[in-house]
Amino acid sequence: MADRDVDVCVVGAGFAGLAAARYLVGEGKTVAVLEARDRVGGRVWAKQASDGTSVSVGGTWLGKDQARMFDLVGKVGLGVYPQYDDGDLVIRMDGRNHRFGDLAGDPTWWWALACLGMAFARLNEMAATLPLDRPWEAPGARELDAQTLGEWVSSWWNVPSDRARTLLRTSLGMLFSVDPAQVSLLGSMVLARGGRDDGFQYFVDASITETHLVDGGGTPEVARRLGSELGDALCTSAPVRRITQTDDGVEVTADGLTVSARYVIVTAPPVLSGQIEYDPPLPDAYGHLMRQMPAGAILRAVTVYDRPFWRDRGYSGQSAAPASPVPVTIDQSPPPPTTGAPPPRGVLSSYAVGARAIELATMEPARRKELWLRELVLRFEDEAAGRPLDYVETDWSAEQWSQGGMISHFPPGVLTSCGSVLHEPYKRVYWAGAERATVMHGLMEGAVRSGEETAQEVSRKLGAQPPATG
Ligand SMILES: Cc1cc2nc3c(=O)[nH]c(=O)nc-3n(C[C@H](O)[C@H](O)[C@H](O)COP(=O)(O)OP(=O)(O)OC[C@H]3O[C@@H](n4cnc5c(N)ncnc54)[C@H](O)[C@@H]3O)c2cc1C
Repeated sequence: MADRDVDVCVVGAGFAGLAAARYLVGEGKTVAVLEARDRVGGRVWAKQASDGTSVSVGGTWLGKDQARMFDLVGKVGLGVYPQYDDGDLVIRMDGRNHRFGDLAGDPTWWWALACLGMAFARLNEMAATLPLDRPWEAPGARELDAQTLGEWVSSWWNVPSDRARTLLRTSLGMLFSVDPAQVSLLGSMVLARGGRDDGFQYFVDASITETHLVDGGGTPEVARRLGSELGDALCTSAPVRRITQTDDGVEVTADGLTVSARYVIVTAPPVLSGQIEYDPPLPDAYGHLMRQMPAGAILRAVTVYDRPFWRDRGYSGQSAAPASPVPVTIDQSPPPPTTGAPPPRGVLSSYAVGARAIELATMEPARRKELWLRELVLRFEDEAAGRPLDYVETDWSAEQWSQGGMISHFPPGVLTSCGSVLHEPYKRVYWAGAERATVMHGLMEGAVRSGEETAQEVSRKLGAQPPATG
């Protein structure tokens, strides 16, 4: 006997699950949301710094054309503010720091910058030709899927400058949190395409992205408020272990709770969705797809300072240092104060990804912190960088219910062998999430769109059936 009988059971309360449940409730359907963690948000999460500052340690930034996320932010009563983008990006290469603004005037960098621009343009051009829903059916898909993004970048014919190749590997490695040598060229295009024309540059050029942050608690607060709207329909600390389906419905078994529903929408990341036991077993392609879509490794440190000291030196807070174990930083400070209020804390986010993140995670924490802060001092040429008020670290690989981040990627051969089921339900079991999104794939916006679109499809199916009783 099930503990709950509803129209739809949603597995996972990240943005995809929250958006799916919200849509269904709005349509008058009954839902139960089963979330493994003791909180909502999934890969969106806030931790408290010792001075009480709430710091977002997962999905944080929103950009142009992310209409569903901006809408939800407004609906839960929060606002946004623009990313600080004055001043120079620092590029640390060849043992020296360069201000990005100076490079255009340095003839030794002209070739590298031109090659970088041409490489992005060629990648974006390739991505723009892909059919959004079915990239595996693109002309030449098999050849693109047999090649890795790393191979493409390493070819002198594609990128005829050492410096440009190094910078490209760093920015693309950051996006997937793995070495581009592990990512299918075709698979990488799914993220680049994302329903836009600006391809990978959307992710690396803040002026194109028009990046914003959420005020008053950030994206984690958006998730928290969406979770509270669900009331008793939300069950946390309820990891789903098994989904049994019959001709009439599904039974979803979580720790301590069983839900009977007409349909289920699974929004856990692919690898975790693949760890659920499905009865009857899924056709082979589904399991192979989910097992072969791993997330990369990402360690994120958020350092809190009494003020954003880097701005005094004309830096934006963004940096790229390909040879460093901490190759990327970005300013994550709160908005400028209203008149009369004390100046804002300086908050800097910095990242280690892929093999370096895995190696750093094995270090003794105090030694890792010391190394990390030293890297920030070198980058910003200021001892203040090494003396934060707080240092908040998150290892996404150690998170049982994420098993890595930022997103899952497609290794070579996966999309063309089993990609055809990426958007397909199996009878009464549907899947949604950032990795299932066509538009804004991999982002919070993609998660919301995928959740809402899947809920809409399920709602249509339910339209033909009598409602559940309890
Ligand atoms: C460090 C980091 C930085 C990022 N930065 C950005 C950014 O700035 N902008 C942006 O747009 N995106 C960013 N992202 C990506 C973004 O956070 C994700 O794309 C998005 O949040 C994914 O949402 P989702 O609902 O698809 O998946 P998730 O958030 O992973 O939600 C899935 C949920 O399912 C739960 N779950 C798993 N298994 C089970 C189970 N068996 N039973 C029940 N529940 C289960 C999980 O606990 C989780 O809550 C970042 C991610 C990370 C990690």
